[in-house]
Amino acid sequence: MSQHDHSKFSRRQVVGGLMGSMAVAGMVSGASAAEGSASSAPNAAPPLTGKNPLDAFPKPPFERQPQDPPGLASKMVPRPDHGEKSYRGSGRLTGRKALITGGDSGIGRAVAIAYAREGADVAINYLPEEESDAKEVIDLIKAAGRKAVAIPGDITDEAFCQKLVNEAATQLGGLDILVNNAGRQQYVESITELTTESFDKTFKTNVYAMFWITKAAMAHLKPGSAIVNTSSVQAGKPSPILLDYAQTKAAIVAFTKGLAKQVAEKGIRVNAVAPGPYWTPLQSSGGQPMEKVMKFGEEAPFGRPGQPVEIAPLYVTLASAESSFTSGQVWCSDGGTGTF
Ligand code: NAD
Ligand code: MG
Repeated sequence: MSQHDHSKFSRRQVVGGLMGSMAVAGMVSGASAAEGSASSAPNAAPPLTGKNPLDAFPKPPFERQPQDPPGLASKMVPRPDHGEKSYRGSGRLTGRKALITGGDSGIGRAVAIAYAREGADVAINYLPEEESDAKEVIDLIKAAGRKAVAIPGDITDEAFCQKLVNEAATQLGGLDILVNNAGRQQYVESITELTTESFDKTFKTNVYAMFWITKAAMAHLKPGSAIVNTSSVQAGKPSPILLDYAQTKAAIVAFTKGLAKQVAEKGIRVNAVAPGPYWTPLQSSGGQPMEKVMKFGEEAPFGRPGQPVEIAPLYVTLASAESSFTSGQVWCSDGGTGTF
């Protein structure tokens, strides 16, 4: 042990000893004392039982389950876990007003549930054909006691993006969290088969819409607001069959970092999350060949895909005003691969 380690260790011992004597002397506040007692505190950490990341959630093989894009979470086997039964809030976003694109299913749904249970009012955008998934999310937001706003529509249309932001801000009574999460991913084996139309649609959905929605949101975002964009591990380690998609996810990283610098003077933070393999309809509706979907997550050190509920905490932390010095960053969750 180095001398530095020694001094750190002894400082901790001193602090621990001090806290001990304060508790004995009745000097620790009620709240702090309650936090120390795992069983009685309302927000105590859940027990670790069943939380070994290796086997906490389903592993491949999965059954064949092709869907047409955009796909529905309700048709997936097993159904993704978006935290419907498990996510517990602790007031980290009380009174905040959030717009989440792609909030009907997958990662966006998990974020919507988490934000509502953390105390935020939430507007979600999705495609009209995803209404049944969206309805479940709207009901869950309401069940958390928060305002829920559903705004279906296609974000590849600039005029709709402007309408979406303005309607969200009007119905929520303001806007201080924007989660740009909607995405298009369609695998194509060869560049010679990748059509201009498909390439264009991927860029319109993933890059242009993020620009249009964020631009419109600037009229509403006040100091303390946060933008969270969804990138991907594809930004750094592109798959050969996702040429267009991977480029858009790299563009999102550059957009996030550049915008963070630009709007710092307005007191707005901008960050991105880069998911690894997550069990969502994006993958089974043409995002990967079906053989890969059936083995999805197998290559991650945890040997399984992530479930949307497992990534929601990153979006909560990045949106929360507690993270007031964090901007221009990309936070990755990839089951131990260590992509970034
Ligand atoms: P998902 O299919 O549940 O969510 C994607 C959503 O995008 C859809 O629900 C849909 O509402 C929305 N969308 C697509 N095209 C749209 C359009 N033209 N107009 C409006 N909405 C549109 O899948 P997901 O995996 O939760 O995807 C969320 C984000 O996570 C995406 O940006 C995706 O690229 C990213 N991501 C996912 C993974 C993964 O393994 N699932 C990995 C890395 C990144
Ligand atoms: Mg969906």
